[in-house]
Amino acid sequence: VSGNASIDEYYLVDSIPRADEAQEAKDYFQRVGGAASNVAVAMAKLGVKVFFIGAVGGDKQGDFILDNFSREGVDTKWIVRSSKPTGRVIILLDSNGDRAMVALRGANTDLTPGFLNLEEALRGVEHVHLSSTKPEYTSWVFEIAKSKGVTTSYDPGMTIASKGFSYVRETLRMVDILFVNKREYETLGPEYLDSQFNGLLVLKEGSLGSRLPKLGIGVPAFKVHAVDTTGAGDAFNAAFLVAWKLGFSLEQCLLVANAAGALKATRVGAHSSPTLSELNEFLVKNGYEPLT
Ligand code: ADP
Repeated sequence: VSGNASIDEYYLVDSIPRADEAQEAKDYFQRVGGAASNVAVAMAKLGVKVFFIGAVGGDKQGDFILDNFSREGVDTKWIVRSSKPTGRVIILLDSNGDRAMVALRGANTDLTPGFLNLEEALRGVEHVHLSSTKPEYTSWVFEIAKSKGVTTSYDPGMTIASKGFSYVRETLRMVDILFVNKREYETLGPEYLDSQFNGLLVLKEGSLGSRLPKLGIGVPAFKVHAVDTTGAGDAFNAAFLVAWKLGFSLEQCLLVANAAGALKATRVGAHSSPTLSELNEFLVKNGYEPLT
């Protein structure tokens, strides 16, 4: 963390030192972040109608997040205001764009089964994407989604890497698409996933690209100059889901998602994923079909 800023001065969320070495950073950014918010914004930028379900504090950081979501085109009507402070994450970046994170959960701890009328919130919704790592909450969301015929995707995120697959075992049977990166894949266990997970397993491999290990389909990454990979996986998820919902082939879904992840990696900030026109311009420039 740079300078003399105290934790109370962070509006949210992602604070990104500009200098090559975190301890030498003289400056920082403050942005709305978190995997679920990144996916929500990335999908809205791709032209999808998105509702965010979650909790923020009644504090100014909470206002900041709601304003930010509204500006990005994400509907905030299902965001609950908590008496706890808004959750924050501090991100330390190195000169290659790789990162380390420290988190204060805050209002996120309010996310428990029944914290809002989910049946009502899911009315008319086609798909639920979740990044929670709380098993009871995750199961509650997916059970209701499945009972309403809503398709589901899940990105358990980095926490899973330290907690192991027993954490999500019960959840996986309700998941249509499971997104994991290399570390999460190894921790969850390729053998377990191969034999026990019946949905679509999508493996993100950073600058190598992405694969569907169970189907033997893989697409190499686009060659770009990466400056910040924060949110690359979330931009990837969003684009993959849009392509999948549009009925693209699985290989095309990987390609379009790789493009979104690569474009995101060329820009600083977790919400800097491409718009639909930026993504399409990039795809066409590289000789591929646009996402329309
Ligand atoms: P996560 O953020 O979930 O750990 P990754 O780092 O694997 O996920 O990034 C997601 C996707 O973004 C990758 O599969 C790849 O398509 C793209 N991507 C990430 N980093 C780069 C990079 N340095 N160069 C090109 N594409 C990248």
